[in-house]
Amino acid sequence: MSRLGFRSVLTRIRSLVFPAKCVSCGELLDARDEVFCRTCYDAYENAKQEICSRCLKPRCRCTCPSFPLGRAGLGRLIKLYKYQPSDSDLPENRILYALKQRHLASVFDFLARDLAEAVADALTPKEKASAVLVPCPRSNAAKRKNGYDHTVELCRALSRVTGFSVSCSLRRKSGGKMQKNLSGEDRRRNIKGRFFVKEPCDLTGKTVLLVDDVTTSGATLLECRRVVKQAGAARVVPCVIAFSGRDYVIRPATSRKKGKSYKKRRPTAETRSTN
Ligand SMILES: [Zn+2]
Ligand SMILES: [Zn+2]
Repeated sequence: MSRLGFRSVLTRIRSLVFPAKCVSCGELLDARDEVFCRTCYDAYENAKQEICSRCLKPRCRCTCPSFPLGRAGLGRLIKLYKYQPSDSDLPENRILYALKQRHLASVFDFLARDLAEAVADALTPKEKASAVLVPCPRSNAAKRKNGYDHTVELCRALSRVTGFSVSCSLRRKSGGKMQKNLSGEDRRRNIKGRFFVKEPCDLTGKTVLLVDDVTTSGATLLECRRVVKQAGAARVVPCVIAFSGRDYVIRPATSRKKGKSYKKRRPTAETRSTN
């Protein structure tokens, strides 16, 4: 029996002993379902198809940056959907917990396939020719706790679909506090200087797809981007499963007044249509 055939038999036996359940609601899955039951899959797809208020494309097809990334000068953010931290039971949130804590190959493969479609839309042929996947590394404490680094696993799954190579030359120093317990400014201070590129560096002249699970304040992605650019990357495009927070909407230059804070203005329908 070939190696592949043996693996599929093993997978089949395992599924008979431990039948697959929906990662969101725990219902037993049909043979055609992958990680979600039908109901949860539909909810996940709806989150991906939500319309971006800036470009009016579905979230999974738009490359608009989140507010903190746009304000810092990033032009693109590849993502699948907008994360709603207030409701942890949403299927699109539950799959993120599964990604981080359950080490399921089916979850990595499922999300990688969706991300690969978004990447294919977002990059030019020239960028694809020089693309390399770089995971934003977890802290050593998180790796010890879960037994794996989910961003590395996600990159490997994405590599199998896209054919892009994975570079783990971006490393993270030990120490610092957990980002999720800090506010925006504290996150930036906490993460500054925490990353470095291990020599020899294989990122020179590359289009780096910086892969992370979620971006909120943008602090981790911005710091990783700074380090990767310093190491010689030609361009850096962040690529995440989800973002949280508001959209980055730019006011037309003619309506800007001196002394008025941009942050205090809410986007209008007119503003949205001009960007
Ligand atoms: Zn379900
Ligand atoms: Zn958009």
